[in-house]
Amino acid sequence: MTALVDVRGLVKHFPIHSGLMFSRRIGSVQAVDDVSFSISAGETLGLVGESGCGKSTTGRLILRLIQPTSGAIFYDGVDLGTLDDETMRQKRRDLQIIFQDPYGSLNPRMTVEDIITEPLVIFGEKPGPAMAKRARDLLTTVGLASFHAKRYPHEFSGGQRQRIGIARALASKPKFIVCDEAVSALDVSIQAQVVNLLQDLQEEFKLTYLFIAHDLGVVKHISDRVAVMYLGKIVEIADKRTLYRSPKHPYTQALLSAIPVPKPRARRDRIVLTGDVPSPIDPPKGCRFHTRCPVAQPVCREIEPRRLTIGTGHEVACHLVQPETA
Ligand code: SF4
Repeated sequence: MTALVDVRGLVKHFPIHSGLMFSRRIGSVQAVDDVSFSISAGETLGLVGESGCGKSTTGRLILRLIQPTSGAIFYDGVDLGTLDDETMRQKRRDLQIIFQDPYGSLNPRMTVEDIITEPLVIFGEKPGPAMAKRARDLLTTVGLASFHAKRYPHEFSGGQRQRIGIARALASKPKFIVCDEAVSALDVSIQAQVVNLLQDLQEEFKLTYLFIAHDLGVVKHISDRVAVMYLGKIVEIADKRTLYRSPKHPYTQALLSAIPVPKPRARRDRIVLTGDVPSPIDPPKGCRFHTRCPVAQPVCREIEPRRLTIGTGHEVACHLVQPETA
């Protein structure tokens, strides 16, 4: 499969200013640091990590909603950083996002029809009967009724609002969608319904997803491959089967151990990580995970591990994990 999205050496440091009129730069939040991955057309890459690890920033960087400090994002072979504003604006038809908060992401003063068609108006299409029909068709596509078009967001449940957010994301007929914690705020039973809907839509419209979540349990069902992020870096990436069966990075192992086991007799030893995630303003030297890693070695405090390929499509950044052939 060819890569639809190719992220290379992506870096985002948010400057911190202080002093009179915030004129003095005193540091930076190192939100994303040297992140690289690709997503093939029609594929879903799950991106997982604790809050503040940089996964949502990564999604927004890919869509150019925020500008990277350095690095490149190729979409369909085109370096998005080289496009002028108008070309990028038109390119956004292909690139959409579904937000986490179905309450906060929908304008309460707009009808559902206006919410869904707003992106089309922004892209220069004229409102009219054809656009209204498109909104009604999209509502039925996401499992709502066409008469819902004239209602307001407060008249819907959380799951229904997320379906409206999905319909809005589909309005411009995108090819790539960032699902940014798209099901995290929903009840577990509703989560499953929305994940199933996203899978059906992916098949119907040949969509490619970056599916961001803080829980490996949530991304398991929908992802083809999974990347695990910690403090701005990808520490492990592999196809779903490999990652869930044979995780190599101690952080991935800890995240996996926290997923409840459905069978009552099955046991899994929980790896409890101690301490908080360090500040991205001053991340630890060496391996960023060493302050919490249960198997850290002296070298981990000094030297940052490189991400090595240890099997087909399986890459890990840990001093204790080496390629099998080495
Ligand atoms: Fe733990 Fe060291 Fe591996 Fe980092 S490099 S995950 S600290 S063992």
